[in-house]
Amino acid sequence: MENCLFCKIVKGEIPSAKVWEDEQVYAFKDINPQAPFHVLVVPKKHVASVAEIGMLEDSEIAAILRAVSNIAAEASLPGGFRVISNCGPDACQSVPHLHFHILGGCQMADRMA
Ligand code: AMP
Ligand code: ZN
Repeated sequence: MENCLFCKIVKGEIPSAKVWEDEQVYAFKDINPQAPFHVLVVPKKHVASVAEIGMLEDSEIAAILRAVSNIAAEASLPGGFRVISNCGPDACQSVPHLHFHILGGCQMADRMA
């Protein structure tokens, strides 16, 4: 997808702090972290959001969640972590390439919105 920020990051056209890469998934540190640990996990194939996840192969969807679990395990977050995917304007999605935030390393608020 031309002019997609995260497609450019996946292709290495824009620098990122990589924390994970496999055949189907790329993950990197969020440039504006909202927690001590804040990583974004994206499919290499462009889809806009969870609303379009049906456009991915089942293996790609599984690979994203496996990567989330592996990244969190490698990060050693004994208190746990939060996984968020904003979808559309009500959720304030700002980059229209599917991504899962992994947030950890601190006590988070006991609410979702
Ligand atoms: P969302 O608002 O859920 O779409 O999340 C987009 C996230 O992308 C935000 O947390 C931004 O801080 C992050 N972000 C934007 N540009 C970059 C970049 N060049 N490298 C890393 N993270 C970025
Ligand atoms: Zn993209």
